[in-house]
Amino acid sequence: MARFSTRFLGCKVSHTDAQMLRARLLADGHTEGPGEIAVVNTCCVTNEALAKSRQAASRAARSHRHVYVTGCGARLSETAFAGLPENVTVVRGQIEDAVEQIAGDVGAIGCVRADARLQRVRAFVKIQDGCSFACNFCVIPLVRGATRSRSAAAVLAEIRRRVAQGHREIVLTGVNLGCFRDRAAGYRLARLIREAGAVDGVERLRLSSIEINHVDAELVAALRETPVVGPHLHVPLQSGDDHVLRAMGRRYSVATYLRKLEPLADFNLTADVIVGFPAEDDAAFERTLETVRAAGLTKVHVFPYSPRPGTKTAADDTVAPEVKKERGATLRALSDEACRSRWRSKVGREDVVLVDRPGRGYGADYSPWLVPGPIAARIGELVHVRGRAVTGEGIVADAA
Ligand code: SF4
Repeated sequence: MARFSTRFLGCKVSHTDAQMLRARLLADGHTEGPGEIAVVNTCCVTNEALAKSRQAASRAARSHRHVYVTGCGARLSETAFAGLPENVTVVRGQIEDAVEQIAGDVGAIGCVRADARLQRVRAFVKIQDGCSFACNFCVIPLVRGATRSRSAAAVLAEIRRRVAQGHREIVLTGVNLGCFRDRAAGYRLARLIREAGAVDGVERLRLSSIEINHVDAELVAALRETPVVGPHLHVPLQSGDDHVLRAMGRRYSVATYLRKLEPLADFNLTADVIVGFPAEDDAAFERTLETVRAAGLTKVHVFPYSPRPGTKTAADDTVAPEVKKERGATLRALSDEACRSRWRSKVGREDVVLVDRPGRGYGADYSPWLVPGPIAARIGELVHVRGRAVTGEGIVADAA
């Protein structure tokens, strides 16, 4: 038996992959703990993410007997992890192969086949991996390959297993969720949402993110007609300027983005935006701010552009770092104000919060709540609350 630890950098897919590795090692009879085996599932979406991944691997090498480096960073670059100590192994295959390789190296413990319980209220269930969109700046198709889906039966079985383990909220994750297809069984994303939401014991269901191209009447109906789906959707924008969107190789205009979100005007809409893309001048950035306002976005995850090797824009990086920084700060300030404005609208109103950490949780629309006194410790429970005030971190609740 070995003691192991897993950590991930980057997005929810990276988190899900790290959990897959963790579940396999637990199922093979190993236990979590420090000192022996570390798995670092890396990210390469920006230069900074890759540098942090290397630092994490280097730190782990000092405190563990052996370290496995997996994930997008490991797949992108031979050199990114060169020169690390000899106890570091870089595993470059896709996650399924990486799991097999690492599990084979570490070794299984006889007949132990426990079903690993993940100690979170929320379970991330991967339905799809890879992307065939090929946006000009994006390294994901290079490191994760073309889109491919799990079968609907496998996804629904995993959801049933997670619920049996005690998870209350299911988040369907993938790199490009709208590409999910199970042709043999006749599923697209909308049908999967309806059936996942009908699994006994699922109290909340969310999508990790969805491209605007995939927001259509069928999807909107599935979101609205599935009672456990809350009014929240994360829809990457990347830029609010048509010229920049074209230069990015995105497949929509600003008008399309706004039009497709119209039926979801009451939803808490969140997005990713890249600042400092080569074609982005001051006027284009202003149009991005206008678009964020017009779409009614609240939380905007801001990414300063950094060119990634192997992409179409690998050689372009014309916006000065201080301009990227300033634009990022302006956009974050706009996003903070939009969040506070939504949170203020909940003062005096009731909501149901899923408590996921001591004193904290998320409401139906994924707004953050701070829950007081006796209900603060009811982790994993849905609690009825009433908004009392707003702080920089969320809505302060009274028990309703
Ligand atoms: S849709 Fe574009 S940005 Fe998103 S993963 Fe695919 S290529 Fe990358």
